[in-house]
Amino acid sequence: MEEGGVIELSDIEERQVRGARTQSLFREVNERVAEINHAFSDFLPLGDWVCECADPQCTERVQVTREEYEKVRTDPRRFVVAPADAHVVEEIEHVVDRTERYWVVEKSGLAGDLTAKIDPRRVGLAANA
Ligand SMILES: [Zn+2]
Repeated sequence: MEEGGVIELSDIEERQVRGARTQSLFREVNERVAEINHAFSDFLPLGDWVCECADPQCTERVQVTREEYEKVRTDPRRFVVAPADAHVVEEIEHVVDRTERYWVVEKSGLAGDLTAKIDPRRVGLAANA
């Protein structure tokens, strides 16, 4: 360690960092959506969520019940994405659940660690890290 704390990232690590940031942003959007969906959950069994894949251009919507979303959110490495291979970046994540309406991906390695740290529900914990 002679570089004074400067960390050199490889290409794949850079992709992981970028993907983690994007997905954490989408997750923050969905945190707001969760509040809105909660207000309407008496009328609508399914909520409209934004796809949480690593593509910043993606505007896909996914139909997930609030209960299903909360289940996914219990693990900070997991994200809800639209049900197609185009929404999965195989080198940084893998599909852990497939339904007709949505897939659940789990980040691995560095991307998983990062998304766990950026989890808006764990901000208090990450602040001291
Ligand atoms: Zn997507």
